[in-house]
Amino acid sequence: MSAEKSPLPDRLEDPPAGENKINRKAVALVSGGLDSALAIHLVKKQGIDVTAVHFTSFFSPLDIEDEDSPVRNLVRQLKVPLVLRPKGRDFLELIRNPKHGHGKNLNPCVDCRIYTLVKARELMEEIGASFLVTGEVAGQRPMSQRKHTIRFIEKQAGCDGIVVRPLSAQVLPESLPEKVGVLDRGRFLGISGRGRKIQLKMAEEIGLQGYSTPAGGCLLTDKIYSRRLQDLLDDTNEPSQDELDLLRFGRHIRLRAGLKIVVCRNEKENVRLERSAPAGVMFFPVGFPGPLVWASGRPEPEEETRIASILRRYSRPASRGDLIGIRETDAGERQISVTDVAEDDWIEAHMIR
Ligand code: SF4
Repeated sequence: MSAEKSPLPDRLEDPPAGENKINRKAVALVSGGLDSALAIHLVKKQGIDVTAVHFTSFFSPLDIEDEDSPVRNLVRQLKVPLVLRPKGRDFLELIRNPKHGHGKNLNPCVDCRIYTLVKARELMEEIGASFLVTGEVAGQRPMSQRKHTIRFIEKQAGCDGIVVRPLSAQVLPESLPEKVGVLDRGRFLGISGRGRKIQLKMAEEIGLQGYSTPAGGCLLTDKIYSRRLQDLLDDTNEPSQDELDLLRFGRHIRLRAGLKIVVCRNEKENVRLERSAPAGVMFFPVGFPGPLVWASGRPEPEEETRIASILRRYSRPASRGDLIGIRETDAGERQISVTDVAEDDWIEAHMIR
């Protein structure tokens, strides 16, 4: 048996507060989706003092700083304070070696749920709350929301009995706050499965707006995103935050170990790459419109020609020029002249997807 330490955060070994310690304060996990918002609404209606926590990560939406992001929009409507907590670099290790395996792609859903409950319980104890609230619906997701998996995750996280799931409470075992009468189970719901009708009707009734549409999971459930991330993890032991952020956009093409390029797909991506490119080499069209291309390593001269030919392939034939600028971090700018256009077959064979 491996003696390696699990990448999961340490489970809090002390048992959750006993029955006599359950108060009327809770921490609720919010994702920006409808279910977690409705769960907050249902416990607030019972007079519970709720603090929302949202976990940010390199594989979740970038818009959390935006006042109109679904998460901020919803907590404003629900009138609850919001705490942001990062899924830190320890989560990267969890993606590499999930104790309970991956889903279809790089999504380690069971470990991810355990991780977030452990972190949410830490916040719960920091602010003197005594239970957690989630928008989980029994049987909604194939991997982490089966009834017995929900209970398994709760126990593994050291949160036995203190997780309340208002949308499915009536089809799940009674939680501690329900048992001691802090919460009235009869005012919760018994939803199970993937249907959304009840939730949508409720949202309309209470006038909730601006929630994100259910997309079936985070970016780790996306095949192309997962391949890009796996490629980066295979190539680099310690990817930088900028390299992780870059996985969300552009075309990713691997030339060899240690050399990958990202080709922007439009002007918006050009602006974004210019602003946040990690250290590396930038290729840009001189005197004609076209994409910026960022290279992760230091290309050899023949590789520079190849990259310039890829840049030209993604420029409009009618306006394509042959001067390509090269800007290296700490080494200034120069230009090369290239007339080749990369062949589609070659690009297809090297594209990460
Ligand atoms: S879909 Fe993504 S965020 Fe949700 S549990 Fe799975 S890994 Fe975690």
